Amino acid sequence: MDGHTRAASDAAAGRTPLLLHACCGPCSLEPVKYLRQEGFEPTICWSNPNIQPIREHDRRLAVLVAWARDVAHVDVIVAADDRDAWEKGVAPKGLDRERRCRACYAVRLAESCRVARERGFRFVSTTLAVSPYQLFDACHDELVSLAAAYGITPVWRDFRPHYPESVDDSRALGMYRQNYCGCRFSAAEAALERHEARDWRKAAKAARREGRELPPRPEYLPG
Ligand code: SF4
Repeated sequence: MDGHTRAASDAAAGRTPLLLHACCGPCSLEPVKYLRQEGFEPTICWSNPNIQPIREHDRRLAVLVAWARDVAHVDVIVAADDRDAWEKGVAPKGLDRERRCRACYAVRLAESCRVARERGFRFVSTTLAVSPYQLFDACHDELVSLAAAYGITPVWRDFRPHYPESVDDSRALGMYRQNYCGCRFSAAEAALERHEARDWRKAAKAARREGRELPPRPEYLPG
């Protein structure tokens, strides 16, 4: 069923069609579930030219498509992935995470809003509001301003309280879960954080053993 046909059938069934930009399969589980509970019927839109290398991009897309088809029964629109635009508009921001991620959200959400308008969706949302590792406020601002520019209503929800549930549910389904956001900068940052976390755990263990004060815990370390 294509996006137009699905939109028509959902409207007929009393649900409200919504285009849901999805960053990956695991982050889509809870938004689809909770948006349906609100009366929306999501169609997923894939536009993620940020994901590097390309085999990782293709793997995440394949996981999403298989889950959408076999488990969630959600249509997936594979939209444009303009990797050149990402390199020109986002990569030069390098390790300035706030500016880089904001520009990255804009590239992906602009394409999703363009598709939404082209296909007649009145509502747009994103799974980027699930992960506590995303820049929540920056992503909100980008979605709201792009949706306004395209004449669509943004459906922004704080899905972060459902993140632990999404981890459990995706593991139960045996889904591949990546350990970095997507771009090469995030892969390097995540690797560095894993090293720092490992070093902190070692130092904390030694401090406990010797009855010393624990070293400061890295902010990003959960629990
Ligand atoms: S960390 Fe994630 S959101 Fe930020 S630029 Fe990289 S891929 Fe995009």
